Amino acid sequence: HATLGVMGGGQLGRMFVHAAQQMGYRTAVLEPDPASPAGLVAHEHVRTGYEDVIGLTALANVAAAITTEFENVSAASLRQLAAHRPVAPAGDAVAVCQDRAAEKAHFVASGVPCAPHARIESDADLAAVDVSTLLPGILKTSRMGYDGKGQRRVADAAELARAWSDLGRVPCLLEKMLPLAAELSVIVARGADGCCVHLPVQRNLHRDGILAVTTVPAEGIPAATQDAAIASAGRIAAELAYVGVLCIEFFVLADGSLVANEMAPRPHNSGHHSIDSCDVSQFDLQVRTLAGLPLVQPRLHSPTVMLNLLGDLWWDAAGRERTPDWAGVLALPGTHLHLYGKAEVRRGRKMGHLTVTAATPEAARALALQVAAVLGFEPF
Ligand code: ATP
Ligand code: MG
Ligand code: MG
Repeated sequence: HATLGVMGGGQLGRMFVHAAQQMGYRTAVLEPDPASPAGLVAHEHVRTGYEDVIGLTALANVAAAITTEFENVSAASLRQLAAHRPVAPAGDAVAVCQDRAAEKAHFVASGVPCAPHARIESDADLAAVDVSTLLPGILKTSRMGYDGKGQRRVADAAELARAWSDLGRVPCLLEKMLPLAAELSVIVARGADGCCVHLPVQRNLHRDGILAVTTVPAEGIPAATQDAAIASAGRIAAELAYVGVLCIEFFVLADGSLVANEMAPRPHNSGHHSIDSCDVSQFDLQVRTLAGLPLVQPRLHSPTVMLNLLGDLWWDAAGRERTPDWAGVLALPGTHLHLYGKAEVRRGRKMGHLTVTAATPEAARALALQVAAVLGFEPF
C-alpha cells in the first residue's frame, strides 16, 4: 500500500495519520521529537529536523505524497520535497501563511477585508505609525506566533515602542484593535482540479489567546454572514491556487461586518469536531486532497461543541496534581475524548480535546456544560 508522509509530529499529524490509516495507507512522519503524538502512531518515523537533507531524502524515498501539519515547517523544505514527490499544500502557499504581512496582502488581493495594519521593521516604521487609525492596537511578530504568543496589546505610541523592543525588534505587524462581536473559522479543502468543499462555519471562543471552545452550527451568526465567510474562504484558497486543507479565521465586528484575521495551511484546532460531528472530517479531507481522491461536501450530522483540554486540568484548584475524571465524562452519552499522548503535561499546553455531539444545539451546549462541570472548569 502507498505511504503518505507528513512534516511534523504534533496532534494534527497524529489525527492525519489516523485518517490515512483508516483508508488503508501506510504513514510516515518527519519529526525530531522521539515521542511526538504523530510519531507514536505512524508506521515510519524519520527522526530529523524539518530542514535536514538526510531526513527530507528519507521521507521522499518512503512517501508517495507529502503534506504538512505544522505551519512553520520551512517552505524551502516543501519546495525541495516537491522536486521528488507531490506535496500539498505547496511551499509557496505555506510561505504566504507564515508571514502576517504577506497573509494580509493576500486577503486584500482576494477581495477580503482585514484589519488596518502596518509593518514595523525599523525605528522609522515605528515613527511613521498613524496613531489615530492604528492605536489602540495589537503588535504581532510577523512570523512564528501561535496561541497568542508573540503579541502585545498597545494603547499608545510609548507602549508600542516598548512592546516592539520587548518582542526583540523582530519584524512585526501592528494591527488596529477591532471591536469583536464573534470569531469564526472556515475550513476549506481544495483539490488540484480546483474543486473546493468546506466544513460548516465554526464559532470560536478564545481564552488568553488560546482557542477554548468551538461551536457548530455557529449560533447567533446570520446566514448571510456565514455564506460570506464561506465565499471569502473559497476565494482566498483559489487565489493561492491552493491544494489541501486551509483554515481561515474571521472576526465578526460589532457592526456585523466580516474581516479575515489569519489563515493556517493545514487542518485547524477549530475543525477537530468534524471527526465526530461530520460524515467527512478535516483529516479525511487532507488525505483526499493529498492522494488525489474525490472531494465531497461534508455534512454535519450532529450539532457539536468542542472543548480544548489544556494541561491546567491536571492540577486542582489547590495546585495538587490530579488525573482528570475521564470516566465521569465518558459516562455521559455523546462525549468523544481525544488525548494526544503527550508525555509532559504543562499549563497552557494542548493535551487533548473533547467533542460533544447531540440532537440539538441546545442539548450540545448543555452537555458541554455538564462535561466541564465534571472536569472542573467553566467553558463559556
Ligand atoms: P492562533 O493560535 O490562532 O494561530 P495567533 O497567535 O496566530 O493564534 P491571532 O489569531 O492573530 O494569534 O490572535 C489571537 C486572538 O487575539 C484572536 O483570536 C482574537 O481573539 C484576538 N485578536 C487578534 N487580532 C485582533 C484584532 N486586530 N482586534 C481584536 N482582537 C484581536
Ligand atoms: Mg496564528
Ligand atoms: Mg488565530
